[in-house]
Amino acid sequence: MSTFQELGLNDDLLQAITDLGFIKPSEVQEKAIPILLDSETDLVALAQTGTGKTAAFGFPMLEKIDVNSRTTQGLILSPTRELCLQITNEMKQYGKYCKGLNVVAIYGGSSITDQAREVKRGAQIIVATPGRMKDMISRRMVDISKIQYSVLDEADEMLNMGFKEDITDILSHTPEDKNTWLFSATMPREVATIAKKFMSTPQEITVGNKNESTSNVSHEYYLVNSRDRYQALKRLSDANPDIFSVVFCRTKRDTQKVAEQLIEDGYSAGALHGDLSQNQRDLVMKSFRNKQIQTLVATDVAARGIDVDDITHVINYQLPDEIETYTHRSGRTGRAGKTGVSMVIVSKSEVRKIKSIERIIKRQFEKKDIPDGMQICEVQLMSLANKIHNTEVNHEIDKYLTSINELFEDSTKDELIKKFFSVEFTRFYNYYQKSKNLNVSDDGGRDRDGGRDFGGKSNSTRYFINVGSKDGFDWMKLKDFLKEVLELGRDDVFKVEVKDSFSFFNTENELKEKVLAFFTDYKHEGRFVNVEVSENRGGGGRRNDRNRGKRRDDRKGGGRRDDRNSGFGNRSERRRSDGDSRPRRSDSNSGNSNASRPRRSRR
Ligand code: ADP
Ligand code: MG
Repeated sequence: MSTFQELGLNDDLLQAITDLGFIKPSEVQEKAIPILLDSETDLVALAQTGTGKTAAFGFPMLEKIDVNSRTTQGLILSPTRELCLQITNEMKQYGKYCKGLNVVAIYGGSSITDQAREVKRGAQIIVATPGRMKDMISRRMVDISKIQYSVLDEADEMLNMGFKEDITDILSHTPEDKNTWLFSATMPREVATIAKKFMSTPQEITVGNKNESTSNVSHEYYLVNSRDRYQALKRLSDANPDIFSVVFCRTKRDTQKVAEQLIEDGYSAGALHGDLSQNQRDLVMKSFRNKQIQTLVATDVAARGIDVDDITHVINYQLPDEIETYTHRSGRTGRAGKTGVSMVIVSKSEVRKIKSIERIIKRQFEKKDIPDGMQICEVQLMSLANKIHNTEVNHEIDKYLTSINELFEDSTKDELIKKFFSVEFTRFYNYYQKSKNLNVSDDGGRDRDGGRDFGGKSNSTRYFINVGSKDGFDWMKLKDFLKEVLELGRDDVFKVEVKDSFSFFNTENELKEKVLAFFTDYKHEGRFVNVEVSENRGGGGRRNDRNRGKRRDDRKGGGRRDDRNSGFGNRSERRRSDGDSRPRRSDSNSGNSNASRPRRSRR
């Protein structure tokens, strides 16, 4: 293993490297730096996130450009604003002793004229997102006709995000004889195509296997029913008291919902997704970096810029649609030489995807059980004991010691310890004592996703609901609506059949109480939405005429008092009903596993 000195970097850079505390080059740096320093060549470098790619192209670029010239000589393209800013920041740090160096970031969502002004002052290196770069080229605010080095960073991500045209366009404004250095974590076919198109006989380096996950990350999966996903997430968090995690959801909506729910349940969580303003995103990221937020719930796109080194866990709340995306998710942990865990919460219907991921990342998953309540109580208790053991005494307490001692005069050490720990322990104990086992066995077990009986024979209940296509529902909309107001999972509502003015749907029997309880007084603009158990399990017209009072009149469509105004998709209505459903939900749940979690004392 060589040193940075042996790689041939100049003293200015070596000094900055010492300041940064980098001791030895990472593998990709060791491989790429000598090649880029010693020859004028194109390069394709494949390495996982967190392996130090920025410095692998950054140091050679800084070494090679002429800081005495004000001409733009280096262009680095990266997929997101966050990454763009990170790279700019890193480059400035690497080049802090290179006198006259000017690195400028160009990205959307910020004043284009300010950026143009900075470029005008003489930027030897521009770090840009493709969209804004293209914009500035067409407005003649930048001149990249004398570029000598161009970098495509996170090339796979840029292509994933649809920047292919922009990149082609941008590169057409650069000289033919420049060098192009492409860095990517994975090598899908499109990246190979781009490499072929823009590069001439590039040298290739690979760190680890293509698409492979780093060995610093262990992979675990947890098999649960999809409706238990959220409970599982909470348990995984509680079972790891010092967790600092990114939770990945598939959609912006789920991301927001999971984050909100976590916050409501007393976790320090935040959401990161594309529906937030840039300002909001910056704030969330700032809190996460400062560790004020312990759990960041994010979409794949929004999380692309995350470069936080201490993430202990990545939790896949849902698996990504594209299996390759898993590599990117799990690469958020195990960075900079640390170890990390990537956890996947799966339902039975998704479990085969685990096998495909294993093939891609060339690593095995370990199937683990969601810890039960008492295990969590124990972990929390021992974590507290350790914390206390390692706490430095604050002697400001000394002056109160006499009175405290008086109070505990008659207590033995044992008693005192028990009391002291009970303060914390009881919160968790009360919360978890009646909690159920969330695990599903591979061969059937509690799982219902795999073997659901769609004939509706045994374990599902069929309901009648007095809304239908007249109210703007089709089966998908009704399913979404029910899932949302009842806070159920994707597969919890099934066999939805929408008629003109009423509809039918099924849930598992266990959900019956919850469903009926929720709809006892659920109103939309003065009109009750009525749900009853239907006798016809297959989905015909007959309903169970249990005594549900006069509201039954609504059903036939005749009783639709406000039918002109029954937009059930109405946002404020949804929000209101969301809020309404929560207390009821925990009320109806004897095991109180849905109740808010005990507040965690701030660390
Ligand atoms: P990548 O682009 O491959 O995802 P980065 O370039 O963002 O990785 O580097 C990840 C982290 O590792 C950064 O915080 C960076 O400062 C740090 N790092 C890079 N090279 C080294 C090194 N040689 N020694 C220690 N830390 C390093
Ligand atoms: Mg990078």
